[in-house]
Amino acid sequence: MNQAEIDALRGRPVAPQGLFIAGAWTEPLSGGHLDVLSPIDGTVLTTIADAGPEDVDRAVRAARIAFKRGSWSRMAPAGRKKVLLKLADLIEAHALELAVLGVRDNGTEISMAYKAEPLSAAGTFRYYAEAIDKVYGEIAPTQADVLGLIHREPLGVVAAIVPWNFPMMIGAWKVAPALAAGNSVVLKPAEVASLTLLRLGELAAEAGLPEGVFNVVTGRGSVTGEALGLHMDVDAIAFTGSGGVGRRLLEYSARSNLKRVHLELGGKSPNIVFADAPDLDQAAKISAFGIFRNSGQVCVAGSRLLVQASVYDRFIERLVAVTRGMRVGDPLDLASDAGAVSSAEQLAKNLGHVRAAEEDGARLVTGGKRVREETGGYYMAPTIFDEVTPAMRLAREEVFGPVLAVSRFEDEAEAVRLANATVYGLASAVWTTNLATAHRMVRAVRAGVVHVNTYGGADITVPLGGFGQSGFGRDKSLHAFDKYTDLKTAWISLG
Ligand code: NAD
Repeated sequence: MNQAEIDALRGRPVAPQGLFIAGAWTEPLSGGHLDVLSPIDGTVLTTIADAGPEDVDRAVRAARIAFKRGSWSRMAPAGRKKVLLKLADLIEAHALELAVLGVRDNGTEISMAYKAEPLSAAGTFRYYAEAIDKVYGEIAPTQADVLGLIHREPLGVVAAIVPWNFPMMIGAWKVAPALAAGNSVVLKPAEVASLTLLRLGELAAEAGLPEGVFNVVTGRGSVTGEALGLHMDVDAIAFTGSGGVGRRLLEYSARSNLKRVHLELGGKSPNIVFADAPDLDQAAKISAFGIFRNSGQVCVAGSRLLVQASVYDRFIERLVAVTRGMRVGDPLDLASDAGAVSSAEQLAKNLGHVRAAEEDGARLVTGGKRVREETGGYYMAPTIFDEVTPAMRLAREEVFGPVLAVSRFEDEAEAVRLANATVYGLASAVWTTNLATAHRMVRAVRAGVVHVNTYGGADITVPLGGFGQSGFGRDKSLHAFDKYTDLKTAWISLG
């Protein structure tokens, strides 16, 4: 990927989008469409379909018919593997086109989006494709005159509802294991980042997925998403997004057919720097990138920085220097460290959090405002508040934007207390050269991941998910198959 290749794609017209149901493009019965605004400059990029309940019903029916037909659900795992590997190859072959399209849709800087979106999604499809023909059933250790066989079966119709920050990466975390296990899938992208996932529908058909096995419906969460949540023939929902919508999905399940609901929600992740961190310069740099990349729109972002008092001033000085040096710019420019915030609404929310922090008495060290307004796009300066106390809203509420809350601690016990003073529990980090401190902190911090002497970084082989109100169920790794399969016992008398 180079700048000239990116520039050649940046102005490509994007046709108005329909729904991808039963292997073909179709217009919504609802007749509704939504404008897609590019966060790069606020102009209309194209339109997407605003699917109503009748459209969702069509997609779920197509998925159920495909599941019952069995051409995918009962195909030998080695056959499914072949198709999904082809899909991975197609995603990779179209990686640049997908990356640029996605950036025009959601504003993530291309240097990150290229790897985190198409390339990561291709890797995820490849991983689950390669895994599925290596998953065995079990024989239970029963008495000798019976045979207890434990089968793993697909659930049926899985709905995946995903957010806008990394649509392809997060979409693939759900769609790839669900499809590999033999389910049919209806995917609903976020209304502000649907374009790459619609293209994924097309590529899946090209790879040979039978019609109806993978469907993509776009539209508003409160309409399209709700219709999926309440549908009587959806067996499971795999969701990534906010806690508020997660709660609704649980309610929808209770009000409809008790479908399983797997929730990956938000975070307010502590990044804890001890005085004996291996390299304070490096820690400051990685900490800044750990919150400000993708304009802070990263579920695992280290949004609460806790620094030991004895190195506090030194560390903040370095952190601020790195932060002020970060380039917020055109997300299609390879030199940009951060691109645009995904939407005008999200930018307004971020600025609301800045005002609340000021009202609560936190000290604004840098940023705190919209920048590059003349472009018409939605850009925000990386923002640091220090002297943040646990009672302040900035210490407790997820911003999901480029806003860092910094607090100081005296000793390990206080670090643990501050780290765990949150309803969330998604990610965290500890910086120390003391092995015992590191291991004690890994045990003490309540979070799905504790990084040690780094922030971020993981691959498809390790599970991702939260404690507390960050949700339950895990994406990624072989554990993800548990979400998309059911266990069935065959109890066979040998007498
Ligand atoms: P959101 O909850 O507003 O939307 C997520 C999805 O839910 C979208 O597709 C949306 O259309 C849909 N939706 C909205 N209302 C709905 C309803 N009533 N019924 C059904 N579906 C509905 O979240 P967002 O703003 O798109 O994403 C940001 C949130 O996602 C943050 O809280 C972030 O931390 C979280 N997130 C978590 C992870 C993780 O792995 N844990 C990863 C990325 C993002």
